[in-house]
Amino acid sequence: MQKTMDAVFTASDTQYLQHAANYHVKLFWNLWKTRTIPEEGWNEALLTGFMQWLASIDSNNRVDITPVGAGEREGRVICPLVNRMHFNMSHGVGRSGNVADVQPKALGSSMLSTIANNFALQAIKIAGVTSCKGALVVPVATGMAMMLCLSAFRKKNPTATHVIWCRIDQKSCFKCILTAGLIPLIVEPVRDADSDALVTNLKKIEELLVEYKEKVLCVITTTSCFAPRAPDSIVEVAKLCAEHKVNHLVNNAYGLQLKSICEQLEESNKVGHIDAFVQSTDKNFQIPVGGAIIGTFKKSHIEPIAKIYPGRASAVPARDLVLTLLFLGRKGLLEQFDRRVQLYTILKEKLSHFADSIGEQVLNVPQNGISLAMTLESIPRSKQTLFGSVLFNRGITGARAISSNDYETKVDEYKFTNFGAHSSEDHVGYLNVACAIGMTEAEISELINRLEVNYHRFIRKSCRSTESPVDDEENHLEHG
Ligand SMILES: *Cc1c(COP(=O)(O)O)cnc(C)c1O
Repeated sequence: MQKTMDAVFTASDTQYLQHAANYHVKLFWNLWKTRTIPEEGWNEALLTGFMQWLASIDSNNRVDITPVGAGEREGRVICPLVNRMHFNMSHGVGRSGNVADVQPKALGSSMLSTIANNFALQAIKIAGVTSCKGALVVPVATGMAMMLCLSAFRKKNPTATHVIWCRIDQKSCFKCILTAGLIPLIVEPVRDADSDALVTNLKKIEELLVEYKEKVLCVITTTSCFAPRAPDSIVEVAKLCAEHKVNHLVNNAYGLQLKSICEQLEESNKVGHIDAFVQSTDKNFQIPVGGAIIGTFKKSHIEPIAKIYPGRASAVPARDLVLTLLFLGRKGLLEQFDRRVQLYTILKEKLSHFADSIGEQVLNVPQNGISLAMTLESIPRSKQTLFGSVLFNRGITGARAISSNDYETKVDEYKFTNFGAHSSEDHVGYLNVACAIGMTEAEISELINRLEVNYHRFIRKSCRSTESPVDDEENHLEHG
């Protein structure tokens, strides 16, 4: 007889192995029960295990019975790569017409979506909007999410047709008004008396509220924008909206990264009216483009917005948000926010130093803690956008050179003078750079290096001498 080679497991071995083998699943159950972002981030093995655990709950992945799909939506995925990219989760979120409903065939996917909404609410609070009560992760970017909000407002107030919009030169947040079938009333910002900032024209907003009365459905303000535009005075607008009983929608695209914006959202809710504020998942949390979070100060305000969404949706934005917040943990998320603040100060200092060295200046916009604007007076107006293109071509993405011009940019049927500058007012031309979440100190150093080298080269080649024309490459560049 052959002797077996089984190792001998002691009682304490058995106890330990049971603990270790069950621990992951315990963690996952606990997460489902508490729906709370863990203090410390999870490692990749845990994240993978979590996704597999959730996927195993969806009916088409069950192994305790052999699933038979007799319907028209059975989560079938034919391409193995696509299936792997989704961890075998293919049901998306929502159920026949309602994005917030539980899908019985896909309880794992529905759990993921529930966790995502809970995490989103906590993340908004961690960022500083502590009295936020409702949060919904939607599988569309910011502009479309704002369109959903407007549509929900309109359903309650069908005879109001106009939206007062504080001009911000970003097309999707303007187009959301048109997509919702509403008519924009455009309010240009005005120059601040004490700084270089473009600030909200409160007087004009009030005039329009008085003039258009019950025709006004909503006022849209924006908190995160390119300097020299300042975040809108949302506290004052919130007071006006309360007084005139109109909806107030805040475009908070990348505003969660700035403490002062979160504080103003809090204050606005205390002293005035905000129905919803919308933020991008990619810009605030470093995940691929595709989602937005709609936040509200009343839990009941989120439901009509969720209800307006026609149908099911991709679970990918919810999944990516959950995985990212599990990866970072509460601590990691706070570190990301804090680090950005430190780096913004460094960027501002270095850019100011460079601006000094070439006789330019960084515009004084104390309210804007994300975007900076450096004047480009030393470059002729006709060549400022070319300079922007050169920078893009040298691998600097996101920097924008804005020149003053007379032409009109059309968005749908609406014409904007000096589009890009948020105001039709004439200006000397400037360069925008931003310190957004995730930027590194090495990127800042390299940005300033390349800016310096390319600025001097550009001045030498393109602006000073007529005998040495712009090189071919620069001649062929288009607007950045
Ligand atoms: C990114 C952004 C938006 C929304 O753009 P989406 O592509 O719809 O996410 C709106 N307003 C501002 C100021 C933005 O930066």
